[in-house]
Amino acid sequence: MHKTVLLFCLAFLFGQCAEPGDSESPQLIVLGIAQDAGYPQAGCAKECCVGPWTDHNQRRYVAALAVTDPASNQRWLLDATPDIKDQIRLLDEMNAGHQLTPLDGIFLTHAHIGHYTGLMQLGREVMGAKSIPVFAMPRMVSYLTNNGPWSQLVSLNNIVLQPLSDKKAVKCSKSIRITPFLVPHRDEFSETVGYHIEGPNRSAIYIPDIDKWEKWDESIEEWIAKVEIALLDGTFFANGEIPGRDMAQIPHPFIEESMQRFATLPERERNKIYFIHLNHTNPALAPDSDAQKQIKQAGFKLAEQGQIFGL
Ligand SMILES: [Zn+2]
Ligand SMILES: [Zn+2]
Ligand SMILES: [Zn+2]
Repeated sequence: MHKTVLLFCLAFLFGQCAEPGDSESPQLIVLGIAQDAGYPQAGCAKECCVGPWTDHNQRRYVAALAVTDPASNQRWLLDATPDIKDQIRLLDEMNAGHQLTPLDGIFLTHAHIGHYTGLMQLGREVMGAKSIPVFAMPRMVSYLTNNGPWSQLVSLNNIVLQPLSDKKAVKCSKSIRITPFLVPHRDEFSETVGYHIEGPNRSAIYIPDIDKWEKWDESIEEWIAKVEIALLDGTFFANGEIPGRDMAQIPHPFIEESMQRFATLPERERNKIYFIHLNHTNPALAPDSDAQKQIKQAGFKLAEQGQIFGL
């Protein structure tokens, strides 16, 4: 099957297909859309997870992206999730027809379990990877260097840590640049960053975790104006979603809040926004739910696993 057709089919299989572009130009691929715990969540016997426990097609991997450059046969991951095993496989299948390289780098956002623990699959017990560049902010670098089992990945050269600086671009290939920027989040073990991903034609921002838009010293609206694709924290749909837990301790912009905040933006701007990193309790995970309809009617979208954006 022709590559483009195959990519279209895969994207269709996993959900909506958004302007995949020419498969010979760089692409941004959504490898997962769930919060750190994945969907369903361990131990959850509630209504929210009944669907994915019984129907495997409803399961979703933890939020992560891949960036590919067919011209140089390179590919990078943004975040190394607990689902990395299946996500590398998904990426291999989507890249079928290209000469596959090992990963050319992994960009980490922060040290919460959904975002870096997949690194374990690169070690001696599994892939025995050779010198994969892992890009991380300074506290994250020191966390990985000084704590097992991650320190062993460093000492055995499975990974080579590449310190990042706020707002300093990394030139990945001739046509791809990835730039981290700090965002406010519960930074127990590391800083937290979002990423600006620039291709030859389009660019994207990826912010899977942020406490609240108001807590950030930058304007999310200005960022949205600058890019074509904005993959934004959609962890919870609304307040009160986790009964018995103080949601002030785990702040995120509720999708309801974000939709309200962005309601005055022109349609063109709202259309750029894709919510990602959905918690298992988020009603927008359920197919044809009211939450999904509200998001769509307001001009926003949900990121879909397997979705491809041309860059
Ligand atoms: Zn997270
Ligand atoms: Zn659940
Ligand atoms: Zn987090």
